[in-house]
Amino acid sequence: MDQQSLFNKAPQPWQLDDQDDWLAARVAFSEAPYGPYDYSIPAELETAIKPGIRVEVPLGRGNRKMLGYCIEVIGAFSDNASSVNPGKLKPVARVIDKTPLLTGSLLELAKWISQYYLCPIGTVIETIVPPGIRNDAGTREMLFLSLPKDIASRIKTEKLSELQSKILQTLSRSAEDWTPRELADTVGCTAGPISTLRKRGLIVATAKRVQQKTHEIPGEERMEDLPLNPEQQTALDQIVSHVESDSHKTFLMHGVTGSGKTEVYIRAIQKVVEFGRQAIVLVPEISLTPQTRQRFRARFDRVAVLHSHLSAAQRAWHWRQIAAGHVQVVIGARSAIFAPTPNLGLIVLDEEHDGSFKQDKAPRYHARDVADWRAANEKVPLILGSATPSLETFQRSIERKYDTLTLSKRVLDLPLPDVATIDLRADFGGRKRFSPISQKLRSEMNNTLADDGQVILLLNRRGFSTRIQCPACGHVETCPDCSIPLTHHKEGNKAACHYCDHQIPSPKRCTDCGNPSIKFSGLGTQRLEMEVAALFPDVPIMRMDTDTMKRPGSHEKALANFRKGDTKILLGTQMIAKGLDFPNVTLVGVINADTALHLPDFRAAERSFSLVTQVAGRTGRGQRGGRVLVQTFNPDNAAIVAATRHDYLGFAKTELPQRKMFGYPPFGFQARIVVRSETETRADHVAENIAKLVKQSADELNARINVLGPSVAPMEKLRGKYRYHMLLSSSVPRQLQAVLAHADSRIKPVEGVQYAIDIDPQDMM
Ligand code: ADP
Ligand code: ZN
Repeated sequence: MDQQSLFNKAPQPWQLDDQDDWLAARVAFSEAPYGPYDYSIPAELETAIKPGIRVEVPLGRGNRKMLGYCIEVIGAFSDNASSVNPGKLKPVARVIDKTPLLTGSLLELAKWISQYYLCPIGTVIETIVPPGIRNDAGTREMLFLSLPKDIASRIKTEKLSELQSKILQTLSRSAEDWTPRELADTVGCTAGPISTLRKRGLIVATAKRVQQKTHEIPGEERMEDLPLNPEQQTALDQIVSHVESDSHKTFLMHGVTGSGKTEVYIRAIQKVVEFGRQAIVLVPEISLTPQTRQRFRARFDRVAVLHSHLSAAQRAWHWRQIAAGHVQVVIGARSAIFAPTPNLGLIVLDEEHDGSFKQDKAPRYHARDVADWRAANEKVPLILGSATPSLETFQRSIERKYDTLTLSKRVLDLPLPDVATIDLRADFGGRKRFSPISQKLRSEMNNTLADDGQVILLLNRRGFSTRIQCPACGHVETCPDCSIPLTHHKEGNKAACHYCDHQIPSPKRCTDCGNPSIKFSGLGTQRLEMEVAALFPDVPIMRMDTDTMKRPGSHEKALANFRKGDTKILLGTQMIAKGLDFPNVTLVGVINADTALHLPDFRAAERSFSLVTQVAGRTGRGQRGGRVLVQTFNPDNAAIVAATRHDYLGFAKTELPQRKMFGYPPFGFQARIVVRSETETRADHVAENIAKLVKQSADELNARINVLGPSVAPMEKLRGKYRYHMLLSSSVPRQLQAVLAHADSRIKPVEGVQYAIDIDPQDMM
């Protein structure tokens, strides 16, 4: 209540009545100032304004018209009525939506994400609600865009801005024609650059008479249930008891590779569907293969698969289908956790250890933690499945916060593959020329191929040579915008930065001293492919990494070829380590298990362990058995040793005490602040200031927070910006958020400097 207005003018009884019965809308914006701010609701809009709709409101002195999200309606008798100052509010000008864009429970989820990850709620809502829904895509459109036939030849001569090439690329990646709005939404641009491209004839627009586009969900041939083994049955029973009693529980389903986890998910979801409810299944993007889709579509009538190649209109269409309750199972990557299921019954997060579940831009949420909160809020079970659980999840299962479901054996009693290490130190000595394939691996590959088996080779580095160095002066060619070495790509003979899009023709002489004998070293997948082709000249090989798998559908096609047996050797980056189930793969070779082992990140050992274990799990899936050979310079490293023994518990037993000693997660909570600027001194200066404010805030709030840094980030410079960072830790959950929120409100913006707060950071570079 506004005290002032009450006392200034003695109120008459009828006025008092009126003032006592006010209604206000709390409105948040998706850009600065983010708010939220309160607005009064005029009587004629009282029924139209609900939480989750958009409104137009006046902002600031000039009463600039702004579009905002109503996140709450507060009245004189609401619990938090005292947080509103009803005497001084400007009225809402206009209501945009007839129905809320997001359900009440999704709005609650948005509030939690906003508080936990310290991100404005308007930004969170725009992450949850797809742009196609906000812009009402899918309504009738007449124009469809496509590329002209001669685009390939013209593109070489035309001068294009970064945005323009992005638009053309987006269009070229889709098999369908797009409406201008779909294209603009998907690229994230206005209509301007698209119409410029049309004028230049680089985009062709064709008028078509169409009704609203639909994207039917195709059915699949039915498959019968498999008889479960006892471990699977026990796991299923425990999950189902929570589905039946409408209660929340988080399960860690710890099952070795090939133990039949997916079969258990499917059976649990069947129960959920029987109850008329929906399930959400989250998988890493790369696992959204036809194989995964088929497995679900063969068992359920209405499955929505949300992958990153959907157009804005397709995404919007799925969203509406899900919101209307027409979909039984939603399968998707990270953001599918925001699916607007009206009556959620179960959430599954498969490969829960996977790094892709954490978003690397604001809101920097982790889908696992969001899923945990959503499942608790909607009182449904959550299953976290993995052969190599993150230590965060594993520790929670030890502490009995999560129930553990163990699948200790592969299905049909198939044995886990035998794993041997090859000591590269010994192998390297005495040979004139370095070969990425050791003698032993080579002869095993020969045996496998002679037996008509298939081979998978893992090398987690793309490109040809990962280092271009001058032997005379030692100069290493680096990206001018990022402080990292350029990778030589043989295709197109270019040197490329793997962080930004910077590319130059590979230098013929040192760019520093001019010495003509430049050295290309460091092994990437392109070079591995060449070496393998030279060693096995008549064997069909397929390389799989982000360079070869750019077009939508290429991943599917490559896997289909491998499944048919047309490809005998599949080599690639971690892309090939995930979820593939090919019974004829009888040999897996890890070219270098150490690529990630020595990074300045306390999770380096965990990531190496999990990558090697996962790729090893790609073999021995049929009756023919399987072998794994792991090449390493560190055969005694605890993570490598544990991986070769399929010994998750052994790994956890050595790793957890170390984490505990240093207060690292899962025993401590962390936040990271990264400060970026094109001017190094400014970044440094602002980082120092922020650190000071954080320490002050911690003192004032009596919170015990440990501040490490600020210092130069391991990636000193990225995309032209210098980077400083600091790491904050605390043993008390939520204390970091309180201190950071306090400090954040006092940080004054400095021109040309940005900072980002990352709660529970995964990326330390
Ligand atoms: P995971 O997800 O644990 O790696 P999957 O669920 O992919 O394992 O199962 C591996 C293979 O075993 C799949 O081909 C699946 O169809 C099969 N499978 C699963 N459960 C059973 C079972 N009870 N009996 C026979 N085969 C099974
Ligand atoms: Zn770069």
